[in-house]
Amino acid sequence: MEESKSSNSSPDKFVEEAEAELENALDPVIVEVVFKQLLSSPDNNKCVDCDKDGTTMTSVNNGAFICMKCAKCHYSFGKIVSDVRPIEALWNTSQLRHMILGGN
Ligand SMILES: [Zn+2]
Repeated sequence: MEESKSSNSSPDKFVEEAEAELENALDPVIVEVVFKQLLSSPDNNKCVDCDKDGTTMTSVNNGAFICMKCAKCHYSFGKIVSDVRPIEALWNTSQLRHMILGGN
């Protein structure tokens, strides 16, 4: 049996990435407190793109709060243009910093 490490979408890589994400994840309680604070700003409750009330998603690299509908659009741009992430997700320090420094 030949071992191949050339596949770029192997299940091993997926597991490695998932484990790394879990290891770097901040305590959800801290994340909740930070988002509660960020969402106390009315601007962050309105989608940065369509102005709709009620943001549940973010574009991390843009530090922006967006609605689910616009998130689908952002997702189609690819992660380099817009790193879409639900508010209800695991967050690491770097990602959360983007949101704290950003905002709508
Ligand atoms: Zn929107």
